[in-house]
Amino acid sequence: MSDEIKEVSGELGSTGNFIHSYIQEDLKGELNKLRTRFPPEPNGYLHIGHAKSICLNFGLANLYGGKCNLRFDDTNPVKEDTEYVESIEEDVKWLGFQWDGDVKFASSYFDIFYDVAVRLIKEGKAFVCDLTADEIRQYRGTLSDPGKNSPYRDRTVEENLDLFEKMKNGRFADGEKTLRAKIDMSSPNINMRDPVIYRIAHASHHATGDKWCVYPMYDFAHPLEDVIEGITHSICTMEFEDHRPLYDWVVNNCGLEAKPRQIEFARLGLTNTVMSKRKLRALVENGLVDGWDDPRMPTICGLRRRGYTPEAIRTFCDKIGVSKANSVVDSALLEYCIRDDLKPKAKVVMAVMDPLKVIIDNYPEGKTEMLEIENNPENEALGKRQVQFSREIYIDREDFMEVPVKKFFRLAPTKEVRLKGAYFVTCVGIDKDGDGNITAVHCTYDPDSRGGESPDGRKVKGTIHWVDAKTAVEAEARLYDYLMIEDAENSGEMVMNPDSLKTVKCLIEPSIVEAKAGDKYQFMRNGYYCVDTKDSKENALVFNRVVSLKSSFKIK
Ligand code: ATP
Ligand code: MG
Repeated sequence: MSDEIKEVSGELGSTGNFIHSYIQEDLKGELNKLRTRFPPEPNGYLHIGHAKSICLNFGLANLYGGKCNLRFDDTNPVKEDTEYVESIEEDVKWLGFQWDGDVKFASSYFDIFYDVAVRLIKEGKAFVCDLTADEIRQYRGTLSDPGKNSPYRDRTVEENLDLFEKMKNGRFADGEKTLRAKIDMSSPNINMRDPVIYRIAHASHHATGDKWCVYPMYDFAHPLEDVIEGITHSICTMEFEDHRPLYDWVVNNCGLEAKPRQIEFARLGLTNTVMSKRKLRALVENGLVDGWDDPRMPTICGLRRRGYTPEAIRTFCDKIGVSKANSVVDSALLEYCIRDDLKPKAKVVMAVMDPLKVIIDNYPEGKTEMLEIENNPENEALGKRQVQFSREIYIDREDFMEVPVKKFFRLAPTKEVRLKGAYFVTCVGIDKDGDGNITAVHCTYDPDSRGGESPDGRKVKGTIHWVDAKTAVEAEARLYDYLMIEDAENSGEMVMNPDSLKTVKCLIEPSIVEAKAGDKYQFMRNGYYCVDTKDSKENALVFNRVVSLKSSFKIK
C-alpha cells in the first residue's frame, strides 16, 4: 500500500499523500469507485485557486479510474447568473478535464432537500423557529459558554410540518421564521447548536423561478448534494473543517444511503494578487481592470488571455501540492511554470521594444538579402524561417551604450557584436540631435561573418537581436506587472499596483504577420508574448506579455 501511495504522490504533488491515504483506506481494492466533485457557486469567474481544487478533484478521479462531477452549487438565488455557468464549464474543459455525465445543479435537488427536511421534522430532528437572526445569535452562546434552547424548540411535529409548509408557500416574510436542526445547544462545536437549515427568501431563482420561497443553507444542502450524487470523497477547503460534524450529522440523518467523507485541504493564496471572487468582482465593477478576463487577473480566463497554457497551470497545481497548512505561494512559481512550458513550444522572433536605428555604412544601399534563422534553438521541429536584412535596421536602445559600463558586452563605440543570424558589426559613429540625444548609430559589417559565424575564429561576446527597418511590423505590446502590491504606509494592505500595465509600441520582424489570436511567441532576449484575443486586429497586432524571460526565482 505504501508503495502505491509513493507512486501516485509524484503525480499529484508530494504533499498530497494524506488524501490518497484516506481514499485508499476507505475504498480498499476498489479505487475506481471513487467519485469526487467540483462544486462551484455560479457567482463569479473561476480563479487559479479553483484550479487547485479542479486539478485535485479531477486528478484523483483520473488517477484511480473514478469519476468526478461538475456541480453548480446554486442554492443562493440572489447572486447567481447563467453567464457564470457557461464560463465555468468552458474553464474546466480548457484546463483539460471532463466531468462525468451531465453538468449537475444543486437546484435540481430542491424537492429532495425539502423531503429530507420534512423527514427530519417528523423524526423530531428539526423545528420551525421564530427567533430573529439577532436573537438566534444571542441564544447561540460563545466558544466558552453554551447556548440556550430556543423557546420554539419543543413545537409539536404537526405544528412544525404546518409552519414549514406555510414557509414554503410564501405565507411569511423573509426572516420571520427559519427551520433549524435540533441537535445540541451545549455542543462545544457552535455549528452543532441547532443550526438553521432553511431560510425564507422571496427571491426568483435562475433555474427554479418563483417556485420556492424557502432556500436551504449551505451546510444542509452540500452534504445532501454529495449523498444524492453518490460522492465518496467530498474535498473542500479548511474553513469547513469545523463544519464536518454537521456535514456528518446531515449525512447520517437524511435517510439516504450514501456516506460521503469530507476531507479538507488548504486553499491557495498567491503573492501580489487577490483571490476571493468578492474582491475580484470589485475590481471589475469599479472599472479598475478590463473585465474578469483582464490579463492581470488571477482568473482562469484572465490567465488564458494573458497567454498561460492549461499545461502550465496543471504543472503549477502539481508543484504546490496539497496540504492542510495554509500558505501563500510565490507568484514567481506560476511564472516559472509558464516559462518552462513555452520554452520549447513558442517560436522565437525578433522584436525591438525601444527602437534605435543602426545604419551599416559599408552595406550596399538598396541591397536586401534573406537570412535563415532557426525558430527555436531548443526545438528543431519548429523549423527555420527567412528573415530580411538590409542597410538600415533597428536594435533595442538598451543594447547600446555610448560610454559602456563594465561587463557591457553589447554595442558601444568601436565594439563588435553579432547581430543574431546575420553579421558581426562594429560601431563606428553616432548621430545626435540638437539636444544630444542619440538618433542613430553607424556600424560597418564583416561580409565574411554571414549567418553570424566567426570568419577567423575571433570571438564577440554579445549577440543582439534586430529588425529590418523597411519591413518591420509595428505592434502594441502590453507589459504587465503584478496586479496588487503591499501598501507599506498602510500596514501592508494590498492595493492595486499603479504600474500593473504599461503599453508600448514595438517593431517586430515581418514573419509575425502570420500570428493568430492566442498564438504565443518568445520575443528574443525579452519574454513570452501572446496575441490578445480581444483587441488584436490583423493590421494592428496587440501582444500581451505573458512573462519576461528573466526571473530571480530558483525552483528546488
Ligand atoms: P471565493 O472565496 O473566491 O468566492 P469560494 O470558495 O466561495 O471562493 P466556490 O465557487 O464556492 O468559491 O468554490 C468552488 C470550490 O473551489 C470549492 O470547493 C472551494 O473550496 C474551492 N476553492 C475556492 N477557492 C479556492 C482556493 N483559493 N484554493 C483552493 N480551492 C478553492
Ligand atoms: Mg462561495
